[in-house]
Amino acid sequence: MVRVLIIGGGISGLALAHRIGQYLAGAKVTILEKENRPGGTIATVSEGGFLFEKGPNGFLDNNPATLNLSRELGLEAELIHATTYAAKNRFLFLNGKLQLLPGSLLGFLGTGILSWKAKLSLLMERFCPPLLEDRDETVAEFAKRRVGQEVADRLVGPFVSGIFAGDPDRLSMKASFPRITAMEKEHGSVFKGFAVQRHDHSRNGKTGPKLWSYRAGMEQLIASLVERTGKENVRKFHASSLKFDSATQCWKVSSSNGEEVEGDICVLACPAHAQAELLKPLDLELGTLVGTIPYTRLAVVVMAFRSGDVPISLKGFGFLVPSIERRRILGAQWCSSIYPGRAPAGMVLLRAMIGGVQQAELLNLDDQTLANLVYQELRETMSVQSPAVFTKVIRWEKAIPQYLIGHCSLVEKIEEKAASHAGLFLTGNAYKGIALNSCIENAEPLAVRISRWWSRERLPQ
Ligand SMILES: Cc1cc2nc3c(=O)[nH]c(=O)nc-3n(C[C@H](O)[C@H](O)[C@H](O)COP(=O)(O)OP(=O)(O)OC[C@H]3O[C@@H](n4cnc5c(N)ncnc54)[C@H](O)[C@@H]3O)c2cc1C
Repeated sequence: MVRVLIIGGGISGLALAHRIGQYLAGAKVTILEKENRPGGTIATVSEGGFLFEKGPNGFLDNNPATLNLSRELGLEAELIHATTYAAKNRFLFLNGKLQLLPGSLLGFLGTGILSWKAKLSLLMERFCPPLLEDRDETVAEFAKRRVGQEVADRLVGPFVSGIFAGDPDRLSMKASFPRITAMEKEHGSVFKGFAVQRHDHSRNGKTGPKLWSYRAGMEQLIASLVERTGKENVRKFHASSLKFDSATQCWKVSSSNGEEVEGDICVLACPAHAQAELLKPLDLELGTLVGTIPYTRLAVVVMAFRSGDVPISLKGFGFLVPSIERRRILGAQWCSSIYPGRAPAGMVLLRAMIGGVQQAELLNLDDQTLANLVYQELRETMSVQSPAVFTKVIRWEKAIPQYLIGHCSLVEKIEEKAASHAGLFLTGNAYKGIALNSCIENAEPLAVRISRWWSRERLPQ
């Protein structure tokens, strides 16, 4: 029986355990998780009649990985999708007011979000020649090249901070948004790529991408995966050292309190900074490379108000703020508008994001000061009239990995180095996609790779 140790019980580790169960018959998988609860950044809170997420608020179905996994796990009846108006109405806080983002390219022509020059550059994107060489551009360079500075500042910047809480001038386009760079390569234009995708979807009877969650929140997915893996196989264990014992040909993982577990295969599915600490004594170069992947600091400030204290219509998803507006929140999601049942009657629940790469120092403020600041921002952006009746400040000191210029070649180098350690594998959101869909999608080829490695290398010929 092959023993597989997975360090890290976030979605990457749990999805991998599930796939190993399918691809490596008879494997004994143990997940080592340092916290009392598995799930990592996926964490749902139910308190005072409110239901909110500390981390991801949902997943899109433009990549079907999470939706398919949910169905496989028998969670179909628990799935909920965002309300029609949340799917349709997304706002931008620009020029001192909330402005509805049009749902189509042509829709931009009739808005005040862009100047005529910028509207023209959006229309002309189709004729902008694609980049032929495989240059690693920043997101800002890519956007400026294809749609000009104004669109980059007003639309692309907030989109990037909404996903990565990152800096478009530093993030690698091909590592952070590989589907969009692929569209440019394949169709010569991003908008043409989206048009082809829409056409294919409508031919197959599909509508535009939907945002999904579960009735009881995102943690339902975690609970279901833990059940599949077997609760007894998900252990509270803070991995503090890792070594390969050449006498027994096993991996040995020790915890901070002196416990030790052994496995034939060891997968690191914890964040890059934790992987780096485990790897450095084993392979300084590999650990150092992994440790160069930076993370951003982010706080999620959840606030509930009486409906009557928010005078604007909340029929929408929420809003993003371009950095040119110089505000102190990155945006806010209108949680009780996105999914039903997230707040008691007569209340609205919001979630503002604060910090990120460009304002990381805001996380030095204490909780009360952060909450006051967010309240002030919501007063100025949404005209909120009275202080919140419920507030929670959630801090993520290492929230989201940043795929900087050179990320793709860094990952290649890391993979090459890791392959020199028999039975050692690395995964997690630090490498090939931060979305839940990517973490789940990456689990399958990794399980196949692990299973092939085991049958090729370790079984008697
Ligand atoms: C605020 C926020 C909002 C987000 N919103 C969305 C969204 O709406 N949609 C979306 O698709 N994605 C979203 N994401 C991204 C997504 O949540 C993450 O990329 C994904 O959950 C990462 O999963 P993971 O398993 O790779 O890592 P993690 O979730 O970080 O899990 C790693 C696990 O390893 C454990 N660990 C660490 N060190 C050790 C150790 N030494 N020993 C044992 N265990 C250890 C940790 O405790 C943790 O449980 C969001 C992220 C954040 C922070």
